[in-house]
Amino acid sequence: MATLEIHDLHVSVETETGSTEILRGVDLTVKQGETHAIMGPNGSGKSTLAYSLAGHPKYTVTGGTVTLDGEDVLEMSVDERARAGVFLAMQYPVEVPGVSVSNFLRTSATAIRGEAPKLRTWVKEVKEAMQRLEMDPAFAERNVNEGFSGGEKKRHEILQLELLKPRIAILDETDSGLDIDALRIVSEGVNRLREGGEVGTLLITHYTRILRYIKPDHVHVFAGGRIVESAGPELADKLEAEGYEQYTKGGAS
Ligand code: ADP
Ligand code: MG
Ligand code: MG
Repeated sequence: MATLEIHDLHVSVETETGSTEILRGVDLTVKQGETHAIMGPNGSGKSTLAYSLAGHPKYTVTGGTVTLDGEDVLEMSVDERARAGVFLAMQYPVEVPGVSVSNFLRTSATAIRGEAPKLRTWVKEVKEAMQRLEMDPAFAERNVNEGFSGGEKKRHEILQLELLKPRIAILDETDSGLDIDALRIVSEGVNRLREGGEVGTLLITHYTRILRYIKPDHVHVFAGGRIVESAGPELADKLEAEGYEQYTKGGAS
């Protein structure tokens, strides 16, 4: 049973004016099989949390701990984190020029599984996963993120999730810019993954819309660089009705 434990995490980012603390003591435990929604106003540090967990070099951890099954995640390189099963689907995924989706996925799978998947079964795996996501087979031969529409980027993220089967999946604003059909397909993908009970999901979002399709077990409000309230799924309904204002008064965010 994989457990991601974040304790009193402090993270700073380097800017022209010096170092700014963005995360101010984040506490969160995500167990395999659980879905946690992290919701909060823009600029509250949600993406910073995601990037910090993935090991993005721009973010400096200045305090606190992150462990996966007791192993120190902060000591791990980006690759080691991926191999340990921590997967981040990016809010703004980068282009990878000259690398096809199919090759990119196989390289990632090789890195994570420790050996290259057999080509024949791999091609079949990719094809089936793409069918489930209602993707055109020609997509596999396109270059990663080159000219992808918003919806294609998101489907590509979910395709990675389905094939790489992480233990902890971090989805940052996976719902932003999706039309209703794409949102349904993406949500179904996440829910399929959940049914296996093997992945712990951190669903980061500004809006409650995606939570109509993906029912979280826990909802956390993120403001001013930390979690300021945690409850069950009913908290999302309250946020939908009342917004974030009560959490941002006095410049807390
Ligand atoms: P959210 O995802 O909740 O909208 P972010 O984590 O993107 O919030 O940003 C939190 C704060 O940190 C913002 O004030 C943002 O300007 C700042 N910040 C985040 N990343 C960087 C960066 N790479 N360089 C400079 N400032 C950053
Ligand atoms: Mg933002
Ligand atoms: Mg963000």
